Amino acid sequence: MQQQATYKQLTLITPTAAMSADVHGGRAKCLQRLIRLDMPVPVTVALSFDAVREIALGRMPDMVDLMAPFGDQPLLSVRPSSLDPDWGGPGAILNIGMNAECHAEMAKTVGARAATALYLRFVQSYAVHVARLDPDEFDLPAVATEDSLRAMLAAYEFETDEPFPDDPAVQLAEVLRSMARAWEGTTARLLRQAKGAPADAGLGLVVQAMALGVGQGECGSGVIQYVDSTTGQRRIKGRYLGQSQGREALGDVEGAIYLTRDDRGPSLEEHCPDTFAQLVAYGDLCRRKLREEMQVEFTIEDGQLHILDAVRVQRNSRASVRIAVALAEDRIIPREEALMRVEPAALSELLHRQVDPTAKRDLIVRGIAASPGAAAGRIVLTAAEAQASAARGEPCVLVRRETTPEDIRGMHAAQAVLTMRGGVTSHAAVIGRGLGVPCVVGASELAIDRKRGLIIAPDGRKFAAGDVITVDGTTGQVIVGEPPMLEAALDGAFKTLLDWADEFRDIGVRANADTPADAQTARNFAAEGIGLCRTEHMFFEGDRLGVMREMIFAESSDDRRAVLDRLLPMQRADFQALFGIMAGKSVCVRLFDPPLHEFLPSDKQGLRDLAEQLALPVADVTERVDALSEYNPMLGMRGVRLGIAIPEIYDMQAQAIFEAMAAVGNAGTDIAVEIMIPLVSAMREVELVKGRIDAVANAVRSKTKTKLDYHLGVMVETPRAALRAQDIAEYAEFLSFGTNDLTQMTYGLSRDDAGRFMSAYVQQGVYVEDPFHTLDIEGVGELIAIGAERGRRGRSDVVLSICGEHAGSRVAIEFCRAHGFDYVSCSPFRVPVARLTAAQSALRDRMKT
Ligand code: PEP
Ligand code: MG
Repeated sequence: MQQQATYKQLTLITPTAAMSADVHGGRAKCLQRLIRLDMPVPVTVALSFDAVREIALGRMPDMVDLMAPFGDQPLLSVRPSSLDPDWGGPGAILNIGMNAECHAEMAKTVGARAATALYLRFVQSYAVHVARLDPDEFDLPAVATEDSLRAMLAAYEFETDEPFPDDPAVQLAEVLRSMARAWEGTTARLLRQAKGAPADAGLGLVVQAMALGVGQGECGSGVIQYVDSTTGQRRIKGRYLGQSQGREALGDVEGAIYLTRDDRGPSLEEHCPDTFAQLVAYGDLCRRKLREEMQVEFTIEDGQLHILDAVRVQRNSRASVRIAVALAEDRIIPREEALMRVEPAALSELLHRQVDPTAKRDLIVRGIAASPGAAAGRIVLTAAEAQASAARGEPCVLVRRETTPEDIRGMHAAQAVLTMRGGVTSHAAVIGRGLGVPCVVGASELAIDRKRGLIIAPDGRKFAAGDVITVDGTTGQVIVGEPPMLEAALDGAFKTLLDWADEFRDIGVRANADTPADAQTARNFAAEGIGLCRTEHMFFEGDRLGVMREMIFAESSDDRRAVLDRLLPMQRADFQALFGIMAGKSVCVRLFDPPLHEFLPSDKQGLRDLAEQLALPVADVTERVDALSEYNPMLGMRGVRLGIAIPEIYDMQAQAIFEAMAAVGNAGTDIAVEIMIPLVSAMREVELVKGRIDAVANAVRSKTKTKLDYHLGVMVETPRAALRAQDIAEYAEFLSFGTNDLTQMTYGLSRDDAGRFMSAYVQQGVYVEDPFHTLDIEGVGELIAIGAERGRRGRSDVVLSICGEHAGSRVAIEFCRAHGFDYVSCSPFRVPVARLTAAQSALRDRMKT
């Protein structure tokens, strides 16, 4: 308040005028900086946020004062100036002050046609944007003639019952009023709030003398920028509309001459080398002094250059990374600032192909954006078809009601996955992110007609298997055909930025990786290890599913052990491959977690096939499958409960892990192995499993004559495990919070079914966000904090981490840093995002102190 009092509502911008972006907006402040840099900026007056608020309430500033700096017969422009240019605002209005007198005067200097064209443009924009008349009634004519001007003025009078205002002060007052009110409109407010503007964000306005760029000598207008908005590479881009080559100065795109010399035609660089050199020098000055890549708007009037405005260059994600890195490398900004300037989510866009943001999209349906990136392919409706399609070399999109572990090979084979059910932690979403396959889930408005091999869009359009669609997992859209795409861009700037991030971050980042391919991705993105290897995914590969089913049907422990012996070498090979890729790092292997029935067929054909494979009557197989089915499998016989009830599975896994360790160790690979027990809720579970694993370790030690150091820990994903963390930590060297199940169990919400009502819940403010998407700090977070604190009480050096799908998010990373966690573990493609987020969080903390 006190500070505001030192600023005037109307400020003539001079190098020393009291101005601030918080009071006058970014554009006004930037113009002052340009003036301080001695750039030829026309006379400009800034209206403060307060002044504009008053105008919106009908209290106009003193118009005589406002117009005094512009002299007699002024021609003016008004532009918005909010604190952050990205918050938008009403469009600029140019040529205010145009009237019959001015028109006649101007016709003498610039010619009747140019003067009429300017007048027409002003009447049109005034009618549409200030008087809010129907734009269709005010189309600009192809050729500016006196007749068309008269017709437009008459149309204005007809629509408003008033003549078009002649008085520049009246025109200006109306422009200011309409812009002030537009800012207060509901749509404008919602749009800017979506971009992060506070509810009470102010609008400043900038009134500037027009430098028309029309006249006798070299005249024209243009914009220039010094960097490419899509690649971030330094090069001059922009356009210039020049008048002196006999071209119409305004509105005639044909008349464009290019800025730089190349083979496309005449250029400003050749035509006016001095002015061009001056523009280039101004670009350099802006970059060094404003510490940003700017786009500069200019006019040339009788050979004289005017700088009207400069705004931050619009940029896509790739360009934003390269620009920030280049500014830091040129020592214009410090590395810390470069890191803070890049939105972490932007990195995720760089890691995947994207639909070109300028491409037209014919939307089929919208779902939940579950795994970023975009891919096109032919529709297939089963995993088997996806594999067949891949074998033919045809890209495909796997469309399922929901996916189950049986679909994993189809998901591998598909370019993208689309499901009707499920949320961000559903099977399709988790696997999609792990594989880096674009995925949209929960597209509940889409129908599948399996019999006819069709999907049916909400608008009734039908798409047959074989039709090409695109899944955009970044936006959640499903699109007809294949729009143009932008390729992933992991260039040097991306790597440099992340190397800098690692210098500043103070929490580890690991990856959730189940397969050698995942592990390789994790390694490429410089993950510090694997924080979660979900071993069950290994059992869906190749011919293992059949062996797994035999194991499930085994009658006795010995039979089971015999079947598991066939799985042992496969598991050992899996771990050996994983350990080899992750040499020198830590790998946390989670023992088998899902309910067994997930491995069994659910349809009749599947049951028949299984009966054939096991040489059993279908009735027996069906009975066994039924016996294994549970009312509530996610709370049933899974995780450590299987480990206790059917210990042979964990025994086999432990043996595979230790033998793989011995094998890679003998080959000279150094690896830190951690074994993690899932779904623990009681200390005794850990004690029992630890006893058996230690025994297996001892057996492998004596057989292989190797040392075999490993760490045993617990996945904290039941509320009870968090509450009993103190005694659990007696047997656990580390605690990794599995926030997917912990969220599910804390809320009593099914991970797989919550999508049905989640949007109603979020819309009505029951939950602020989907808790499977954004870590619920208040509830789940409190349990984690309790678990961490009690875990430390039980074992002071217990290693703490989180590994649910939340782990790469800003909320989770900040929470984990605040509670002194050792690392977060997220899907491999989120690792870069997490590295940058962690660095930004650490830097933000440093700024506070
Ligand atoms: C979890 O529950 O948070 C977790 C990481 O395990 P999963 O998603 O495999 O249940
Ligand atoms: Mg879990």
